[in-house]
Amino acid sequence: MQINVSQQLKASIGSIRNYKVSEIVNIAGSNSMFQGEVRLTRTDRGILVKGTLHTEVEVTCSRCLSLFSYPLVLNIEEEYFPITDVVSGASLPLPEEPGCFTINERHILDLTEVIRQYVLLVIPMKPLCREDCAGLCPSCGRNLNQGPCNCLLQGTESNSSELAKLTLANEVSVNEWKGIE
Ligand SMILES: [Zn+2]
Ligand SMILES: [Zn+2]
Repeated sequence: MQINVSQQLKASIGSIRNYKVSEIVNIAGSNSMFQGEVRLTRTDRGILVKGTLHTEVEVTCSRCLSLFSYPLVLNIEEEYFPITDVVSGASLPLPEEPGCFTINERHILDLTEVIRQYVLLVIPMKPLCREDCAGLCPSCGRNLNQGPCNCLLQGTESNSSELAKLTLANEVSVNEWKGIE
């Protein structure tokens, strides 16, 4: 999302512009729609961006590994600094702050990078498709949100039945070998 702020950079400190945001941003390989409103305020050093954006991102449940959409709210507040003086065209010194956001030489303020960084801040490290997600069965891998698997019904017997299947398989192959002879 790019906003040309050349007019606002010429305006007096404290002047305000509101922008509706409705923008698709690529986050970690997938496109997400961001909607909301931002308020741009002229400061003594640049432009302060403040606003709230809503989106939904596709995430993988950390327990059952299913994909689901997760709603995110970004409360953005960042100051942007022009690298070029809007009147004289001379280049301006940037503040010491590392990683500060800049308004480029064509006076474009780009929200994309801020959106990306804020998403990383609010996205959960271990997302859950629901609070009580039952996860996957450790032995058969079934998604237990869709109902119990046979392992659970059989309880501790699952190991012995697996063993029985293995033994059966061995017997079959022994018989086949004998058949070849
Ligand atoms: Zn889940
Ligand atoms: Zn199971």
